[in-house]
Amino acid sequence: MNIPFADLYTQYLSIKDDIDTAIHDTIRNSAYIGGSAVTTFETAFAKWTGIQNVIACGNGTDSIEIILKALSIGAGDEVIVPANSWISTSEAVSNMGAKPVFVDVNADDYTINVALAAAAVTEKTKAVIPVHLYGHPADMPAIMKLATKYSLAVIEDCAQSHGAVIDGKKAGSFGTAASFSFYPGKNLGAYGDAGCMATNDNALADKLRMIANHGQLVKHNHVIEGRNSRLDGLQAAVLNAKLPHLDSWTAKRIEVASKFSSSIKNTGLTLPVIKPGCTHVFHLYVIRTTHRNELQQMLKENGVDTAIHYPTALPLLPAYSSFGYKAKDFPVAAAFQDEILSLPIYPELNDDAIDYIAGLLNKFK
Ligand SMILES: *Cc1c(COP(=O)(O)O)cnc(C)c1O
Repeated sequence: MNIPFADLYTQYLSIKDDIDTAIHDTIRNSAYIGGSAVTTFETAFAKWTGIQNVIACGNGTDSIEIILKALSIGAGDEVIVPANSWISTSEAVSNMGAKPVFVDVNADDYTINVALAAAAVTEKTKAVIPVHLYGHPADMPAIMKLATKYSLAVIEDCAQSHGAVIDGKKAGSFGTAASFSFYPGKNLGAYGDAGCMATNDNALADKLRMIANHGQLVKHNHVIEGRNSRLDGLQAAVLNAKLPHLDSWTAKRIEVASKFSSSIKNTGLTLPVIKPGCTHVFHLYVIRTTHRNELQQMLKENGVDTAIHYPTALPLLPAYSSFGYKAKDFPVAAAFQDEILSLPIYPELNDDAIDYIAGLLNKFK
């Protein structure tokens, strides 16, 4: 059986008429930049997240940068980030002129270790960026306590966690502001780059909107210098067609994950955990084994595509070599980079595929 790591075309076919109509309408109206599809999406996504203001932008990386800029975080400032994430989380900090300060992750849920984050706070620390990695929420109650104690801004990186919940509250609604990505492979994905920022702070929302669109809220009234990071009309139209399905797709992901977790019996494999009070939305289903490369090879030989998120912990990447970090500085993230393996997971993954993958995993020694 051949099982791809992702299957976006099957999802398209399931909503083909809506997508085709949405794209056609955008072209018919020549609504390529801004326009009603963008405002419709902002309103609908605000309602869906329960966060007052949603400001669409070009992609998830931009959204982190724009939030940092709006909070006046830059040269001389430090921002605490987890040692395991996609590079956007730390790259955005550097791009704004501030210093990313990496801290190790929890050994169970892979999100930022809050005790280590507390130990990393200095006079220069201005913010912390928890990442709800793989779809499991970071410990937001503890992070908010830390942030209050040291007056830090909290920017939630929700690129992998659309719909994740902690104690009945959606991820993204705890911090100062949240960043979302709608990269095609995310749980809610456009057909190209797309992202947004979300905040309950109305003044901050105005600033974010200005920065994302050349410093103007009203055309030609450039109050500040901003940048060009807008959601285009075609992507907004695609997102509008998809958003009504997000809850059922998320439920399917959770169902697939629970089938994996109940059918994988190999005690040599470490399966994902779900912490009490949390809803894990399984952007990725990540297992661990000290024989990762052999396992990945065996699955590949049997037609199952897998991936590694991520093969190198952020501080150990060449991009950060000037910091001089060693693996022992981030023992958990450094060990896990050689052990983690992401299985295929998407709403369309059927029982035959799940059983086939679990069967292969159970045979692995
Ligand atoms: C995908 C991702 C981003 C960035 O999103 P883009 O839209 O690709 O710029 C940021 N953080 C994390 C954790 C991500 O997975």
